[in-house]
Amino acid sequence: MDRPQSVSLSPGDREPASTAGVACRICGNRWGNASYEFRERMFGSAESFRYIGCAECGCLQIADTPERLEELYRNGYYSMATRRRGASSRRLVRRLMGQYWVGEARGPLSAIVPLMGLPAPLEWVTRAGKGLDASILDVGCGSGALLLVLRDYGFRQLLGSDPFIDHDLHYGDGLKILKRRTRELSGRFDLIMMNHTIEHVPDPLSDLRQLRDLLAPDGCLLVRTPLAGTFAWRHYGADWVQLDPPRHLYVHTRESLGRLAAAAGLLPLAVEFDSTEFQFLGSELCRLGIPIASRRSTELPPFLRDRRRIQTWRTLAKLLNAAGDGDQACFYLRRRSDVSDTPEPEHAKSVDHPRSGRI
Ligand SMILES: [Zn+2]
Repeated sequence: MDRPQSVSLSPGDREPASTAGVACRICGNRWGNASYEFRERMFGSAESFRYIGCAECGCLQIADTPERLEELYRNGYYSMATRRRGASSRRLVRRLMGQYWVGEARGPLSAIVPLMGLPAPLEWVTRAGKGLDASILDVGCGSGALLLVLRDYGFRQLLGSDPFIDHDLHYGDGLKILKRRTRELSGRFDLIMMNHTIEHVPDPLSDLRQLRDLLAPDGCLLVRTPLAGTFAWRHYGADWVQLDPPRHLYVHTRESLGRLAAAAGLLPLAVEFDSTEFQFLGSELCRLGIPIASRRSTELPPFLRDRRRIQTWRTLAKLLNAAGDGDQACFYLRRRSDVSDTPEPEHAKSVDHPRSGRI
């Protein structure tokens, strides 16, 4: 394998003196925090943004939160792309998978479905101990791509929210995406998902508290997010693709997210690392100065189109996940008051999860 070039244990361009006394917004630490200048890579503007790296909890955070956040999510941001209904054959396959993995029904094709593997969204639901009758809220869902997939699997109580869409979206079958901030939401949900959302939120503690109060008894809050301090950050530094300045206002560590959850009255029950080959492919693009949003396969240099290299990166990502060092993870959180007398759901125990671990 041709390894990515250069290893840096001091990522980014540090200016330690400039952050003297600047407090971490997660843990409050003022001592020894680092300063970095990260450049915008998604659209290739190369505009520079200053971030603080906390010496205590490890969280990376933008020094000055942009005033008009909505402007960061226009002009083709990927999660805002218009969604169309998929082919009916694919919907049928998804319905069978939903029935097999989450529902009670076992149809004539139940011997074939397991061969297709357990898709990530169904894995999240089973680990959360929920079924097809679960009420699910997807926070920061863009135009609702994941919810549309969940509807195909057979879920019927689905709601999405995103403050940066132009207007409410109504997809039929009761599936709605509301143009609302977290504090404007109401209801009770068995499963609330923040899929790569919390890193975009200006006040994550406030949002976690709001969502905790929206959880039904024994409800689960799922938080998927990039993780700083892991291999890709140590290896690529300022070229790590998941920095995504200035949209990622915070890039947490396992430590900082645990502190945040505890402050919000939430207890992490499990964490599952789910990084992919994109931590390498995307970071190599950043290193080469190729904008992530505009990349096309024909524009990639040959070494990034090499299938064996991609497969090697895929394998490496699995190894990093198993070691708890992949560049993103999925946290399963419960209200602290629910946890003391509630054992882990049987669903969660019955599924083999080599990438998961207790925290
Ligand atoms: Zn901190």
